[in-house]
Amino acid sequence: MEKNEPRKFLGVMFNCCNVYGRIYKNKAGTHYTGFCPKCMKQIKIKIGEGGTSERFFNSY
Ligand SMILES: [Zn+2]
Repeated sequence: MEKNEPRKFLGVMFNCCNVYGRIYKNKAGTHYTGFCPKCMKQIKIKIGEGGTSERFFNSY
């Protein structure tokens, strides 16, 4: 289990395969990155600068 850390992952809908999955913060904390569970396409979402109030993103 995690300690008191804030959200380390993001729920996303992978439009490529229409499946839901999670992506995780990278080490530098600058992006969330992850792979589509079906086709393994990589997605990357920038963190911060006013953009993280939303919890769910669509891959593109
Ligand atoms: Zn996919």
